[in-house]
Amino acid sequence: VNVLFRPIDKIIGVLESYPKGIAGFKRFTELVDTEPDITDSPNARRVSGLKGNIAFDHVDFAYGEDRPTLSDITLGIKAGETVALVGPSGAGKTTICSLLPRFYEIDAGAITIDGIDIREMTQDSLRSQIGIVQQDVFMFGTSIRDNIAYGRLGASDEDVMDAARKAQFDTVIAQMPEGLDTMVGERGVKLSGGQKQRLAIARIFLKNPPILILDEATSALDTATEVQIQQALAKLSQGRTTLVIAHRLATIRNADRIVVVDGGRIVEQGGHDELLRKNGAYAVLHNAQFGAWAAE
Ligand code: ATP
Repeated sequence: VNVLFRPIDKIIGVLESYPKGIAGFKRFTELVDTEPDITDSPNARRVSGLKGNIAFDHVDFAYGEDRPTLSDITLGIKAGETVALVGPSGAGKTTICSLLPRFYEIDAGAITIDGIDIREMTQDSLRSQIGIVQQDVFMFGTSIRDNIAYGRLGASDEDVMDAARKAQFDTVIAQMPEGLDTMVGERGVKLSGGQKQRLAIARIFLKNPPILILDEATSALDTATEVQIQQALAKLSQGRTTLVIAHRLATIRNADRIVVVDGGRIVEQGGHDELLRKNGAYAVLHNAQFGAWAAE
């Protein structure tokens, strides 16, 4: 299961005219309210302009008491580097990603960004440095403008359109009846899956964080849309430290490093060719997932 985020009902108070199906939402995209059981330490400091050097240092984590979810995770990611997390379902990839914005408190070890322990940062400022793109895109029943700009309310139309352009979402806006003022949702236009994805990418261009978490879609979009989204994501990750839960061979091959997670542990890491030659966990996964292609 992919449960990066807490239930949406925690923020329902701030949402107007949201569809009734909201209780069914299991997670939401980079809309980060304060976790009630995680509080800022009294000495927590605001961070900004981080470079994005990430280090997990012997991190243990369990959701419950019964068994560990992650054990002894040690992983360094240099600023600007793209790391692809791969591994079987339930391995712990999503959990690793959810610890970075501190959605959960770790049981042992430390996570630092630019050498600063994330527990010493205010949660708000920590999360302002991280952009998250997931398969389910959370939409507000407001205008296209506000949907793009909610991470940076008050952004100028010029900046909103610039972000939309980078995400290849400007052509969608151009076709809308009232441009940026077009309402989304029940009483407005309905966006397709691919359009929502690009809107989500535009949000992050506008927010401009140094760190990116990508939960790559497994569901198929048509080829043209797929290409647009891949291009937009490639551009988005440029110059940002990127942690991607990767499902596509192209993403995995293009990553600077592949990290194989299994049973809550990092079992292998390296480049695609290097790991294939090793004929270990990655080779097994790769052949199971992409064997048919490789044989072509
Ligand atoms: P997938 O590829 O299927 O998304 P994953 O590698 O991302 O899997 P995680 O979602 O991190 O794996 O799950 C790791 C383990 O933690 C699984 O056993 C899962 O059932 C459990 N788990 C995940 N989220 C929660 C949660 N919110 N509460 C309790 N257990 C959870």
